[in-house]
Amino acid sequence: MKIDVYASGSGGNCYRLSDGATTILLECGIPCKQIMKKIRFEIRSIAGVLLSHNHMDHAKAAKDLAGFGIDIYSGEETFKALGLSGYHFKVVRALQSFDIGTLNIFPFDVQHDVPEPLGYLITSRTTGERLLFFTDTYYIKYRFPNVDIIMGEVNYSLDTIDEDICQSRRNRLMESHMSLEHFKEFLKANDLSQLKRIYLLHLSDDNSSEEFFKREIQKLTGAEVTVC
Ligand SMILES: [Zn+2]
Ligand SMILES: [Zn+2]
Repeated sequence: MKIDVYASGSGGNCYRLSDGATTILLECGIPCKQIMKKIRFEIRSIAGVLLSHNHMDHAKAAKDLAGFGIDIYSGEETFKALGLSGYHFKVVRALQSFDIGTLNIFPFDVQHDVPEPLGYLITSRTTGERLLFFTDTYYIKYRFPNVDIIMGEVNYSLDTIDEDICQSRRNRLMESHMSLEHFKEFLKANDLSQLKRIYLLHLSDDNSSEEFFKREIQKLTGAEVTVC
């Protein structure tokens, strides 16, 4: 599967994923105009958008993209919170899989300070690969076998968080975002025998250390690690 990073972080998140037959976006948290430029205005090349939750750094372009006829997939409460409804807003439920073209999508619930945040396990019928996508969650209660690619949030490290930020922000982070330490625990709890690539997402600008995160995850997994 081919992955292009259009934006990652608290300023906006958007990724393009293609298995050669079907192309989708994961998140659409940058202005629609920017997305259009990235996809060279080939609107019909995008089979849908998977949206994790209602925060604007993930959902900013949802309304405009639906206006162009692109289907947006997310939880019912997410659309409610965004005030979005209509034909192109497709409600999905945790643990109920569905298809977009050649991609099978399995949504699962994650832990964030919003009504119905979701992560997605994506399996390609074309390449046979499985990709796990999660962001904006401090914990993942599920385990996923036979994953080839992980795109996951590493927002901060518990090691350095104390020095860098104030108490209230620290508390919010710890109850809504993924630390390096929790990410590593999650990796250890999963069967990584098939894992080839890891994309680290949504690093916070002010209290994360790119190179350190990359090294730590590489050391643990032996996979190719990309910091987005
Ligand atoms: Zn976010
Ligand atoms: Zn969020």
